Amino acid sequence: MLKVLRFAATAVLLFTAYFGDVIVFRSRYSNSLLFRAICDVLVHGSLGFFSSIIFFSIDNNYFSLEYDGTLHIVLCTFFSSIIDIDHVFVAKSIYLKDMVNLKHRGVFHCTTFWLALTALLLLYSYIKKRIEVYMFSFMIVLAYITHHLRDGTRRGIWLYPLGSTPPVDKKLYYFILGTFPHVSAMLFKRYKRYFNYPTLEDTFTV
Ligand SMILES: [Zn+2]
Repeated sequence: MLKVLRFAATAVLLFTAYFGDVIVFRSRYSNSLLFRAICDVLVHGSLGFFSSIIFFSIDNNYFSLEYDGTLHIVLCTFFSSIIDIDHVFVAKSIYLKDMVNLKHRGVFHCTTFWLALTALLLLYSYIKKRIEVYMFSFMIVLAYITHHLRDGTRRGIWLYPLGSTPPVDKKLYYFILGTFPHVSAMLFKRYKRYFNYPTLEDTFTV
């Protein structure tokens, strides 16, 4: 059952990524700033949502951790969408006309910022043995990787202080988008024992 969910969620994720861009940039309503802004946020949120669904559809003994993932899926969707809020801060305006054609990107679009935040969260969860913070770190990673990759197909990935990469190739974007949640879940599984207090099961498992 989880396999079917995983396959279906991956297909819908890629479908949303492709047709989301068609609707945002190439539909008959694309000239409307409001239409583009709303659809853009919805696409970003959907990519986070389906990525986290894939993450939780990989059998990882989540249930033994007492977390079913619902809150984490909501958080991943929320963070994927809210990253664009920094357009408001950079433009210092709530009007869409001021938010387009900004000369520089805000800190939430800086991949280095999120990498540093993720590293701090992982360090904290490792020291304090907070498995739910460990899991939350993966949701943050899924949120900003999907968001930055999609934006990166137009503007590149911003790795302060090194600068920005060239625009990400579309095929590479779809490949990373489709595989990253699977790889994340495997990494979560591989290292989760370092972020949790040992259980009786672990104690007797060699
Ligand atoms: Zn963005």
